[in-house]
Amino acid sequence: MTGESQAGETAVRPTRAPWRASVLTLYPDMFPGPMGASLAGDALSRGLWSLEARNIRDHGLGRHKAVDDTPFGGGPGMVLRADVLAAAIDAAAPADDPRPRLLMSPRGRPLTQKRVHALVDGPGVIMVCGRFEGVDERVIAGRDLEEVSIGDYILSGGEMAALTILDACVRLIPGVMGAFTSAGEESFESGLLEYPHYTRPRVWEAQEVPEVLMSGDHGRIERWRRQQALAITRARRPDLLPQDD
Ligand code: SAH
Repeated sequence: MTGESQAGETAVRPTRAPWRASVLTLYPDMFPGPMGASLAGDALSRGLWSLEARNIRDHGLGRHKAVDDTPFGGGPGMVLRADVLAAAIDAAAPADDPRPRLLMSPRGRPLTQKRVHALVDGPGVIMVCGRFEGVDERVIAGRDLEEVSIGDYILSGGEMAALTILDACVRLIPGVMGAFTSAGEESFESGLLEYPHYTRPRVWEAQEVPEVLMSGDHGRIERWRRQQALAITRARRPDLLPQDD
């Protein structure tokens, strides 16, 4: 037996360095949070990915470790200081760190499954979580931050956005989903929303499972699923369909 197969408690061994996530936050206790459970949590303990949550306040100023200040020009709320945030970013990642630096931001480009794949194919991510009114604009260009949004609504901080992005990425790391994998068929992967699923019981509250699914005719089943996916996408998200022009 080779050393590899003796160690073989896991079917899939990392073929590359683990995917590395560093999160800069004022609430490091929120991590790994839900990412410590289920398949992502197992993968974290198996070393398929790593997570480091760094407290921005470690770089705060003065006796009170201040991280924010009032906005120039007036207005409500507080703004995260550029100098404090830059110091936190510099401590987390040297200038030659190849990982993309994502700033959680409702102004950012909305996250897509395509972007998630691109992130997973890279070495990992550095994620900056805003709080209050947001961050001083100058740190965005000054530290090459890419603003990313998880949708058109406002969260109280970037932490839930960071966890969402982590969840979307980690499940795609080879070996994380293992035998459960169905990632190739899901909504967005084919450009369409997914077809409906059914399981036992065959009749539930007088509703029957569509006959075609019991037919054993895989060609017919596949055609039916494709047609359902198209109909659902046309009804709910016509913007996902190729344009006619
Ligand atoms: N004043 C800002 C909102 C600040 S919300 C504005 O109107 O644009 C506080 C922090 O929560 C933000 O800095 C960001 O890090 C995070 N956040 C809020 N909504 C988000 C979203 N939809 N996607 C990603 N991050 C978000």
